[in-house]
Amino acid sequence: MNPIPVNEPRLDGNEKKYLIECIDTGWISSEGPFVKQLEQEFAARVGRKYGIAVSNGSAALEAAVIAVGITTGDEVILPTFTIISCAAAIVRAGGIPVVVDADPITWNMDISQIEAKITPRTKAIMVVHIYGLPTNLDPILNLANKYGLSIIEDAAEVHGQTYKNLPCGSFGDISTFSFYPNKHITTGEGGIIVTDDPQLAERCQSLRNLCFQPHQRFVHEELGWNLRMSNLQAAVGVAQLERLDEFAARKRAMGKLYTELLADIPSIQLPLAQTDYADNIYWVYGIVLEDEVPLDAKVAMNRLAEAKIGTRPFFWCMHEQPVLLKMGLFAGVSCPVAERLARRGFYLPSGLALTDQQIRHVATMLRGILK
Ligand SMILES: *Cc1c(COP(=O)(O)O)cnc(C)c1O
Repeated sequence: MNPIPVNEPRLDGNEKKYLIECIDTGWISSEGPFVKQLEQEFAARVGRKYGIAVSNGSAALEAAVIAVGITTGDEVILPTFTIISCAAAIVRAGGIPVVVDADPITWNMDISQIEAKITPRTKAIMVVHIYGLPTNLDPILNLANKYGLSIIEDAAEVHGQTYKNLPCGSFGDISTFSFYPNKHITTGEGGIIVTDDPQLAERCQSLRNLCFQPHQRFVHEELGWNLRMSNLQAAVGVAQLERLDEFAARKRAMGKLYTELLADIPSIQLPLAQTDYADNIYWVYGIVLEDEVPLDAKVAMNRLAEAKIGTRPFFWCMHEQPVLLKMGLFAGVSCPVAERLARRGFYLPSGLALTDQQIRHVATMLRGILK
């Protein structure tokens, strides 16, 4: 068997055709027409009025956090079990990340622990849907209402997913996506911010483009960034978006197959297949080693690597990040569930180019390692 990478995207639709169009027309920068097309079509797809395409999903979070008004000393509640981009965006805006432990079954933020973290300084909750299963949003939206908080929805792992039949990315004040090659659809590097609020949209457009002013181009009232997406990236994105339903269905089928093949192994916890608000879309297929397994995730991953099977560890908790601890954040914080997930969890090859035959091989090899 050839090596099985942890991720391989599929680029066998109209990607090449649209890229050639960029070259032939000379439109390669962010001024080109595919950028607007991607913004409009993606926003429509998730039921939002505005889309602002940016250079990556982390940049989308940076701009979104500033746009909702997070500033020095503002507290933002977020899951500890997430990617550094979430905490980094808050810290760079001058805000203070306040973390919530994970739920042991869904791996999302434990919503029962949020309200106790709200203080007079809390300004927002950053919801992050983890590994393809949405966070239970209604209770969080109720809290936001009750306490007057903004909601930033990081939907980078749930393109094509729904919560109670409404698209993920349509909740709260502002939502962000990544188009990195391991996401459901990709632009190579890229991301998008979506919102219904015209002022937030305008803020994000300005922040993305160095805060150039429409009337006095090289005079600046504020510092922004260059977070623009190129027409080349957007061309790939438009082609990918045409296939989002197909890709989402394939991810679900891959997840179901993994579950069928692994369900009888008592020493591993599998992703939750469904809740009363969503079916898992299996952005990645994660597993958690039960305590009885004498290996930790690192050793199990090494064994799979010896069999030429690519894996990735689970997220490392925000409250255990050396860079954040050095800043004096999270003194005394413990989140036992997320700490355990970080040490016992990892994910199996999950890319869209993966075949059923490869999935069967991965399952067989994993079974052997756990014997
Ligand atoms: C991938 C991801 C990001 C970051 O996106 P990049 O495009 O890699 O910067 C942010 N949040 C979550 C939840 C992600 O999975």
